[in-house]
Amino acid sequence: MKGFTFKEPSELEQASDFLRDGSGGYILAGGTDLVTEMKQGIIEPHLLVSTSQIKEMCNIEWNQSGVKIGSMVTLSDIANSESMKIKLKSLVQATGSIATPQIRNIATLGGNLCQRPRCWYYRNSRFDCLKKGGAKCFAVGGSDKYHAILGGHSCYIVHPSDSGTALVALNAKVEIYRKSQRIIIPIVDFFTGPEIDVTRENILEPGDILISIHIPNESMAGSSVFLKAKERKSMDFAIVSVASMVKIENEIISQVGLAVGGVAPVPWKLNTLESKLVGMKKEDVDIESLCSGVFNDAKVMGQNGYKLHLAQTYLERALNLVLANSN
Ligand SMILES: Cc1cc2nc3c(=O)[nH]c(=O)nc-3n(C[C@H](O)[C@H](O)[C@H](O)COP(=O)(O)OP(=O)(O)OC[C@H]3O[C@@H](n4cnc5c(N)ncnc54)[C@H](O)[C@@H]3O)c2cc1C
Ligand code: SF4
Repeated sequence: MKGFTFKEPSELEQASDFLRDGSGGYILAGGTDLVTEMKQGIIEPHLLVSTSQIKEMCNIEWNQSGVKIGSMVTLSDIANSESMKIKLKSLVQATGSIATPQIRNIATLGGNLCQRPRCWYYRNSRFDCLKKGGAKCFAVGGSDKYHAILGGHSCYIVHPSDSGTALVALNAKVEIYRKSQRIIIPIVDFFTGPEIDVTRENILEPGDILISIHIPNESMAGSSVFLKAKERKSMDFAIVSVASMVKIENEIISQVGLAVGGVAPVPWKLNTLESKLVGMKKEDVDIESLCSGVFNDAKVMGQNGYKLHLAQTYLERALNLVLANSN
């Protein structure tokens, strides 16, 4: 690992200035992904800027419109929160499914959303693939068992963040610090696929800081479920995951959020299925027929065709569960 400068500012503006000075700096949150990338020789930062002293990034704030979770809040703090266990079951299930207790104790929500992909070609410094500025995607015609079946374009990573899938289904928003301004956007617009820029997975530009994640009251008023298929029972990334949120008012489904993880370079929001469900009575929902054809646009690669069936099955299971839990 090469030497680097370390800064620990207490203000957002200072942190952003450090990161924008052109020296190729990175935000250091829990370091569970960043430091691994440094050790593997995938990145060689000259500067690390810790955001652990920026107070508003470290708090959970319940307010009139919902809950605001600072990006430096750890995954353990979310998974163990008694209030969130009641109001945000899917997020608690998603964060609780990540890695190990030791990792969850230091890994942050912001870091989980901004972590880099797990594609083994990307993680191996000997493969100079498209995502690292090279000329080709080695997964095409290579080892593609865990790769994308949707939205691949030129790079077939799957977004590794379980919290991202849950937050997309909860219609969360993210607050970003950019050039002395604060912008708030839907989290679904935070993630970007390779068709926008193959070298990154979100809209953040040098100097941008993800401050916090906002979840509205409406999403917490319904039921939510997160299901994750893994190869190993112990810690493992999702090969497929599904997050669902349903709110019923006067016996009619008034709000739905559905997102699938492990299938695309971004958490994959199922807009059409969401719209079909809104306005229906719970007892009229025929899950199997509604879900059939949802993944018609999928393009399987050599070894990842199994994901199609798995995604369909997990989607039906998640919908069954969330409808059974809602009233
Ligand atoms: C063994 C193992 C198993 C894992 N299993 C899973 C799993 O099952 N599911 C899953 O979702 N994840 C899994 N992970 C990934 C893990 O969750 C991430 O490494 C972790 O969440 C990253 O958080 P961090 O705070 O350590 O981020 P860091 O490593 O500090 O940062 C990660 C990236 O995000 C950037 N960043 C961090 N915070 C901000 C911010 N506020 N604004 C802008 N950029 C920022 C950093 O610059 C860096 O590029 C696993 C990791 C390991 C090591
Ligand atoms: S899927 Fe993306 S990260 Fe993996 S080899 Fe292809 S271009 Fe690189």
